[in-house]
Amino acid sequence: MKILSGIRSSGILHLGNYLGAIKNWVELQEKADKAIYMVADYHAITTPYDPKKFKNQVLDVALDYLAAGVDPKKSLLIRQSQIPQHTELAWIFNTITPVSWLNRLPTYQEQIKNSPNHMGLLDYPVLMAADILIYKANVVPVGDDQLAHIDVTNEIVKKFNHMFGETFEPVKPYLAEGARIMSLKNPNNKMSKTGDEGIALNDSAEAIREKIKRATTDSGSEIKFDREKKPAISNLLDIYHLLSGKKIEKIEDDYEGKSYSQFKEDLAEVIVDYLKPFQQKRAEIEENMEVELILTESEKNAIIIAEKTLKTVKTSMGLI
Ligand code: ATP
Ligand code: MG
Repeated sequence: MKILSGIRSSGILHLGNYLGAIKNWVELQEKADKAIYMVADYHAITTPYDPKKFKNQVLDVALDYLAAGVDPKKSLLIRQSQIPQHTELAWIFNTITPVSWLNRLPTYQEQIKNSPNHMGLLDYPVLMAADILIYKANVVPVGDDQLAHIDVTNEIVKKFNHMFGETFEPVKPYLAEGARIMSLKNPNNKMSKTGDEGIALNDSAEAIREKIKRATTDSGSEIKFDREKKPAISNLLDIYHLLSGKKIEKIEDDYEGKSYSQFKEDLAEVIVDYLKPFQQKRAEIEENMEVELILTESEKNAIIIAEKTLKTVKTSMGLI
């Protein structure tokens, strides 16, 4: 099993990124033959950003990976933009990917509602396919918003193999139990870095309490899981369950006859306690480790693997 996954350095990571992706990364690095975790900086520049802050934003994401337990002895931690083979392979894939596979994707359609429509947004899944396939990764731990992009990757695999000979294996998504954590303001949108407010992994206890207090709730007063009729409270129950390990039914029983506000106060403490060790570890790493050095070491290794794939690809295409 070879793993590749990444997160855009487009803002501060939140509970959805942790529960939907990073938590699995830490488990998978133990079992995988190779695990590569990427700071997706080239994906991040597809939405507005501040160039003066960007480099630190990238290092902050790598710091979050380390604090969450990604171990540079077991995994490679890389910046997408430092391995030029990703974008080279993306160009090659561009030449075999019909635009119609991309412009109907829900993530793209959603994004162009809010941002200027440009090629980078449309092409995002092609670069993602290259990110994965340049390392011949076959398992990709992601949240469920990325499933359609994995489908595109597999279409590209089929088409490339058909045109130029068996080169790539199909890719499997690996979904976490927390694959879709919703926004606290609007439970119909997923929590995201660039959209609705979420709980950031480095939020202070005060900020967490305040955000949970203000989180949207549904009509009625029962603490009951019902994704359709009570999406807001169901999302909060999900978070409670995932962070405390208690079954949803048990939480419902515990809060029978109790108020939303009591439930929310307790949930805030569950989150604060859960994030405390992460935050402590993050502060220690920030003090003691050279994050950029860890990245450059990993990148040297990643480039060797990436170049090997690119050579094979170029050879089968008649480029070299
Ligand atoms: P952005 O708004 O910049 O796109 P994002 O929060 O959607 O930020 P990404 O960098 O796009 O984060 O995604 C990183 C990983 O986190 C992906 O595997 C994605 O599926 C997962 N993920 C993102 N949001 C959630 C969520 N709300 N719940 C579970 N997983 C999520
Ligand atoms: Mg996203």
